[in-house]
Amino acid sequence: MNRILTFLLAAVVALCPSGLFASERDARPFVVVIDPGHGGKDYGAIGKVTNEKTINLDVALRIKKMLKDYSGIEVVLTRSTDTFLSLQQRADIANAAQGNLFVSVHVNSVDRRSKNRLTVKGASVYTLGLHRSNANFEVAKRENSVMELEPDFSTTYQGFDPNSTESYIIFELSQNKHLTQSINFAQMAQGELVKTAGRADRGVLQAGFWVLLASAMPAALVELDFICNPTSEQFLHSVKGKEKMARALTDAIVKYAEAHPGTMPVSKNMVVDDASDSADSEDAEPDDASVATEQEAKAAKGVVTYRVQIMACDRRLPDNSPEFKGLKNVDSYRQGGFYKYTVGGDFASEEAAESYARKSVRGKFPKAFIIKWRDGQRID
Ligand SMILES: [Zn+2]
Repeated sequence: MNRILTFLLAAVVALCPSGLFASERDARPFVVVIDPGHGGKDYGAIGKVTNEKTINLDVALRIKKMLKDYSGIEVVLTRSTDTFLSLQQRADIANAAQGNLFVSVHVNSVDRRSKNRLTVKGASVYTLGLHRSNANFEVAKRENSVMELEPDFSTTYQGFDPNSTESYIIFELSQNKHLTQSINFAQMAQGELVKTAGRADRGVLQAGFWVLLASAMPAALVELDFICNPTSEQFLHSVKGKEKMARALTDAIVKYAEAHPGTMPVSKNMVVDDASDSADSEDAEPDDASVATEQEAKAAKGVVTYRVQIMACDRRLPDNSPEFKGLKNVDSYRQGGFYKYTVGGDFASEEAAESYARKSVRGKFPKAFIIKWRDGQRID
């Protein structure tokens, strides 16, 4: 009996290599193109101790290293050194690699004149679309303006003017057949940046980024946090912070790749030391807590933002009150003799606030609704 089994097993084992060989010949891994924004003469946003191009590259290199732990995923970086690349060159690299996913990594900032420059904070992930708020337009304008550093930019970008609102109409007119998948990834990335890297949640947004338009694959642009906020800059600059943000994006890429693999399955290599993983997630907790207590982000003068209101109460509750059922970034305002409470901070668009309310709030507060906010008060 044993000899028959051994014989059968031997036959199966002998068959496997040729079978594998045939499928491996055209097996294709999931290809993720990671694009560290800016580089070389283009510094991106500038902070007090560091700058955007340096953070973007560092985080991208860490993601590449972390993804080595997975088979079935291949990483292509648009740049792996401090070099200048045009937006078109970045898209060309992505398209030549026939990527399954394009992730552009950036750091956010607001104008020097903005009142909230020192307190604005949080991560947001953008997919392609026409901006629905001024704040989103400003982010797209800043990220697109790098094209002005090229000598012949209006020819290369066919007359696109990063500073003109009309130019952005192309983002509404252009067909985007990858939008559903792009949003799918963007939600995973945003979720991980909040959960794993402890960033405040500014939501999944849409705006017209040239680099996303030109890449023919599902694509998202990540704004990790604000370099103009000293506390956030400290996190963006620290090794621990960069490691957490890279882990967050790595986990999102793996999750997405598992759902949309190439012709090779995605799996974690066996050699990985799990102890380091669990240490990482434990580390995430202190930052989560600090985010909850330091919610001070106020929008710039005249800018309309959106908040998620959960309840009204006749007395003032402490920020950590159990009444808030563990929700973070609690703010309050007074109206008609009541203290009214909002959670999650300021959102740039009604859609972002609504998506946050749906995902994170209405499970606990089914009647939560969106309010419009400007210059420190409710305006609707
Ligand atoms: Zn940038």
